[in-house]
Amino acid sequence: MVAELDVLSEWIPEQMAPGTIFVLENAGKVGEKEDPYWAVLSCPECGTLGLTTRKQLAGLLPVICGSQHCSAQFFIHDSQVVSRKPF
Ligand SMILES: [Zn+2]
Repeated sequence: MVAELDVLSEWIPEQMAPGTIFVLENAGKVGEKEDPYWAVLSCPECGTLGLTTRKQLAGLLPVICGSQHCSAQFFIHDSQVVSRKPF
C-alpha cells in the first residue's frame, strides 16, 4: 500500500496510479452539504477510483475502497495514508 498521496494538478486519468489524488474543480459544491465531495482518490491498495469527501480528506472519517475485491480502509492525515487495520 502506498504510504503517501500524490497530488495531481490536472485530470489525467492515465496518471491516476494507486495513491493519486485529484481535487475536484467543483470541490465542495457537490454531494452532502455537511460533507461535500472534494477529490477523486485512487485507492492506494488497488487503484480503484472513488470520490472522497471533505471530512475524509481532513482525516475525520475513514476512506473505504469501493472495490469488491479490495478491503482497504484508511485515514488520510495530511497527505499520508494511515491504514485503519492490518491487511
Ligand atoms: Zn482498493
